[in-house]
Amino acid sequence: MRTIIIAGNWKMYKDVQETMDLVTQLKAAMPQLPANVVSVICPPFTSLQTAGAALRGSAFKLGAQNMSQHDEGAHTGEISGKMLKAVGCEYVILGHSERRQYYGETNELINQKAKKALSLGLISIICVGETLQEREAGITGQVVTTQIKGTLLGIGPQDMAKIVVAYEPVWAIGTGRVATPQQAQEVHQILRKQIAQLYDWALAERIVIQYGGSVKPDNAADILTQSDVDGALVGGACLKADSFAAIIKATKP
Ligand code: PEP
Repeated sequence: MRTIIIAGNWKMYKDVQETMDLVTQLKAAMPQLPANVVSVICPPFTSLQTAGAALRGSAFKLGAQNMSQHDEGAHTGEISGKMLKAVGCEYVILGHSERRQYYGETNELINQKAKKALSLGLISIICVGETLQEREAGITGQVVTTQIKGTLLGIGPQDMAKIVVAYEPVWAIGTGRVATPQQAQEVHQILRKQIAQLYDWALAERIVIQYGGSVKPDNAADILTQSDVDGALVGGACLKADSFAAIIKATKP
């Protein structure tokens, strides 16, 4: 049985005080997680230290939303994986569609970041997903296959235990337009098959593939009960403790 991972991408929301408040509420709402469920919160960089300290001893893990492919140096505005580890991060989201769309991140760059994260022992949540145009053109499978092949290039099977994949259709992110459970399951199967082709089926069966895109308490159970959906990457609904907790509670037993 695969672990279920429910991650919250806080995006560019919550200053330090708001982070304290939300973490306090989350810990009260979910003192324990269901068996087999891991939950990760990913606040902005400026809140990581506060969140990390406040989460100590709780059921939640800490992640970042991005990191540099470099170790250190003259990279103004960048944050290294070593810095993330120093404030308690165990996870890092890589290649979110907003990073691909607005900051020009390519599969090649995301691959470099994933390799750097692996070298530091961070778990990467690698995001893939098609645009509405690509879905309507009938090339969803081709798009996510290219993305997964490109982002995993040169990553050996021994490192795949520290890779999580998030299928996030771009047209469903922040739009309120969630993929149907069938649409999600279909793409998750394509991704798992591609991972099996790159490695083998035993490894592919162990990889956690999350769904992301307008997951809310009222649609979470339908998506999370699909056989190849192993959790969710949640944006908007993770900004309130009660809705994030409700999504965690909707995981399949
Ligand atoms: C996301 O930011 O990864 C996301 C899925 O956002 P939302 O849940 O708001 O669609």
